[in-house]
Amino acid sequence: MVLPGQYTGIFSMSNLVIMILRGLVGSCPNCGKAGIFKGLYALHKECPNCHTPFERMVGDFTGAAYVNVVATSAIVVLVSMVLVATTEIPLAVLLLAGIPIIVILATILHKPIKGVWVAILVYIDQMERENSA
Ligand SMILES: [Zn+2]
Repeated sequence: MVLPGQYTGIFSMSNLVIMILRGLVGSCPNCGKAGIFKGLYALHKECPNCHTPFERMVGDFTGAAYVNVVATSAIVVLVSMVLVATTEIPLAVLLLAGIPIIVILATILHKPIKGVWVAILVYIDQMERENSA
């Protein structure tokens, strides 16, 4: 049983992987329970189960947005390059079709990427607390 605010991890690469996997599916990186999101984009301030804080300061998630933009762009560019090289689809059609695809893909990738970002922040936060104790 995880007590509120209790640190449950041992700092190791396997623990980081577990925390990242939990974040990837939208679970608390610390206890693995409950959803970390309270809507499509909004994040709980802390875990409803173990009360691990998810957001420490404003701007914590700028990196997650950046990773989402890079991942979405890379996927769209790679798929577009393959389509241009292997099909007769006009470039204008690909560009027009790419705009809604970018929006949809970025929306789909938002939660997994932000969940992983939360996991990394929680891991770092716990490591800092452990080292300062
Ligand atoms: Zn939790």
